[in-house]
Amino acid sequence: LAKQSGKNSYRFFDLDQNVSLQAQRDYFLEVANALAHKEFVLYYQPKVNMKTGEIIGAEALIRWEHPQKGLVMPLSFLPFLENHSLSIEIGEWVIHSALSQIGQWQKIGFNLPVSININAYQLQQNDFMVRFKAILEAHSDVDPSLLEVEILETSAVEDIVHVSAIMQSCHALGVHFALDDFGTGYSSLTYLKRLPAKTLKIDQSFIHDMLDDPDDLAIIEGVLGLARAFRKNVIAEGVESVDHGLCLLALGCEFAQGYGIAEPMPPQEFLFWVEAWKPDARWMAWQNRVPN
Ligand code: C2E
Ligand code: MG
Ligand code: MG
Ligand code: MG
Repeated sequence: LAKQSGKNSYRFFDLDQNVSLQAQRDYFLEVANALAHKEFVLYYQPKVNMKTGEIIGAEALIRWEHPQKGLVMPLSFLPFLENHSLSIEIGEWVIHSALSQIGQWQKIGFNLPVSININAYQLQQNDFMVRFKAILEAHSDVDPSLLEVEILETSAVEDIVHVSAIMQSCHALGVHFALDDFGTGYSSLTYLKRLPAKTLKIDQSFIHDMLDDPDDLAIIEGVLGLARAFRKNVIAEGVESVDHGLCLLALGCEFAQGYGIAEPMPPQEFLFWVEAWKPDARWMAWQNRVPN
């Protein structure tokens, strides 16, 4: 552990010469303290079938309820913890917390698949599977097939032998994988063949400009083609408007996640949202078209 934090301190220092070692130590202490005081929470963002209106799952996204700074977003604190044992502690807390939530929802008859994000460093640990299994066993009331793991396409490819082995072991437990931010990495056909992930998540940067930029549209079409060829599920991230959705439906992609559907919400709010939500009439109208 000392070695890990030592290495990390060096890296942190390297990234920003102005941050003193003392400031870094203070920061790590603050994060450890936040874990101990349960200041981290998971928000949930729905994933839907735009055609049928079915809610197919939710992604759990971490936030830090900081006593002074208010709600702190993950990209404002996770990158500083990269390759630090704290990121593993947070990662394990995320798995626990998501499983508890799945269990609570299961109890009221709401069997919703929930995905969590796992960073490469946590996945690279030799004891990842042992620890992951132990967490699943601690939640024996939860159906493991309701848990999905998202990993960045780029991280999966970095260490393909190890990651594909983990995917296989998880698969045997009923836990499936999704390749996150898909299209931003190498997306090589060979990698896809070797990675037993069930789902590709098209990165939101391509959705963002798909209506204006033919290159982004081409990338989306390419990912959809790959997904079909490799029999993967595919979901579009960052769907912000009805037109994004319509364009995706026209391309044959009906699964979506984004602010145009809902922002990430605390769990109680999520349930209210589920009660109230209806897909846009124009998306629904797509359902009634004669399939060609
Ligand atoms: P991600 O896994 O790709 O998650 C999607 C991010 O896009 C989330 O940001 C989400 O709030 C945001 N988003 C969703 N729909 C839209 C949209 O329509 N437009 C735009 N502009 N953004 C949208 P968030 O929650 O800030 O998380 C950012 C990243 O931080 C995540 O990207 C993920 O890589 C990482 N992250 C979040 N929670 C965790 C966690 O629990 N563990 C780990 N290891 N990483 C996490
Ligand atoms: Mg994700
Ligand atoms: Mg993503
Ligand atoms: Mg991302």
